[in-house]
Amino acid sequence: MLRTSSYVIYVDLPNESDQMLLVHGYTGAYDQVSGRVANYVRSLESKKPPKPLYGDWSPEPFVDDAVLPSEQTINTLKKRGYLTELSVDAEQALFDKLTKVRHTAAGRYPGYVFMPTYDCNLRCSYCFQDHMRRDNACRTMLKTMSPATVDRIFAAMPKIEEYHQIPPTEKPHRSITFFGGEPLLARNRPIIEYIIAKAQETSTPSFGVVSNATELQEYRHLLGPELISFIQITLDGPPHEHNKRRIYADGSGSFEQIAQNISMALELKVRISVRLNIDRNNIHELPELAREIIKRGWHHYDNFHAYTAPINAANDRTDRKTTFSSWELDRAITELHKQDQDMFVIERPDMRLRSQAGQIFTSQSLPSLQPSFCGANTSMYVIDAFANLFACWERTGDERIRIGYITEESDLVIEDAMNKLWRSRNVTTNAICRQCRYAHYCGGGCAVLAENRHGELSANFCDGYAARFRAGVAESYQKHIASQQEAVKTESLCEEV
Ligand code: SF4
Ligand code: SF4
Repeated sequence: MLRTSSYVIYVDLPNESDQMLLVHGYTGAYDQVSGRVANYVRSLESKKPPKPLYGDWSPEPFVDDAVLPSEQTINTLKKRGYLTELSVDAEQALFDKLTKVRHTAAGRYPGYVFMPTYDCNLRCSYCFQDHMRRDNACRTMLKTMSPATVDRIFAAMPKIEEYHQIPPTEKPHRSITFFGGEPLLARNRPIIEYIIAKAQETSTPSFGVVSNATELQEYRHLLGPELISFIQITLDGPPHEHNKRRIYADGSGSFEQIAQNISMALELKVRISVRLNIDRNNIHELPELAREIIKRGWHHYDNFHAYTAPINAANDRTDRKTTFSSWELDRAITELHKQDQDMFVIERPDMRLRSQAGQIFTSQSLPSLQPSFCGANTSMYVIDAFANLFACWERTGDERIRIGYITEESDLVIEDAMNKLWRSRNVTTNAICRQCRYAHYCGGGCAVLAENRHGELSANFCDGYAARFRAGVAESYQKHIASQQEAVKTESLCEEV
């Protein structure tokens, strides 16, 4: 019997009340249809969409009367996956199979994250590693990685690649990210240089860093497209606000030193991504920060971009009431963009989601569907100074949660239970995500945020995804149509000429 696929997403199109966009959750199809056709598709839904166990999905757009479309339209709807003759269970089985294939493909190449130390020179109140620097019992954790440990790690990398069934090659490509603590402390320079040299000797590497950039001037000789080509740096607002939050151990602020280092790295052609951690207390400072960016001329560089991210309540010094969800932040920043013209230098949130949505319309092949949320669920290896391996950089520093380690003899030991817990997490390992029509776009949400909020890594973390996706898709679709119209105009102008 013909019924509506359980994975059809209905997207309202602003200013086109009689039209709607259908997007298919696992085939990647999209089609603009009349409200009548959308109503017909909706009328064949065999059950109400499930409610998430945690959080809320925004209600699907309302549709009323249903009229039978032509046979040709029905056939097209079938071909595109919106209508199916599969039973609910058979379609679920197909969804599970597709998820497995896509999840395996996503985990093919390992990405390496080196944590040369857990130590840091700043004391940000919301830091998830805060306890390590405040609690004396954790002091031994703050040591710096030794050259011998680096040697062990590099000797074990081919074993990690073999574990991912990558055939050995003489110089494999390896993506290496430095993370901490603060990886680029001045005193870490010898070990960072050693890791870079070792990577160059054994592979064709690319290097990125997540850094507070307070001591970046010590790494000038390593910055540029051939070496450290990407740095993510955090600012928490204009100088006076940032200097209250991202402080040194003596309480002094870090803005000016970071700003000087951003200017230096931009000149050296390093891609700089400035992350602005935002909550309800500092959002109103963003226009002032935008003016600071303009004053320093960073926006003139193609290799600069600034984006916002919500602060999450990761320790008990952060009041959850002051935080935004991703959807709330998106709305608030979009509003600020309308009110203040200088805000153009700060990207709206969810641009990744919007560009992903844009791919639905522009790519010849399938858009990038992701049945798991991030590298922690596939092939990211976060390696600390003790050669412990972790899946996620926000869950480190405790051997009980490691997914493995590298022995003194450079053997790779995988801790099966923990490894499975992280690496198998995808949208079929959670009963709610498994039935969610957004699943192959969302991936189930961040495991860490899910655990912080609900106590389980396997819980879903929706973070307003349904509303964000529909808004992003509608916006991208309108842009796509506008650019097509523009192209047609240019073409006809050319013909006239
Ligand atoms: S699980 Fe969350 S915190 Fe960890 S790497 Fe993935 S997105 Fe980041
Ligand atoms: S796939 Fe995403 S939106 Fe859907 S239930 Fe899971 S976390 Fe929520």
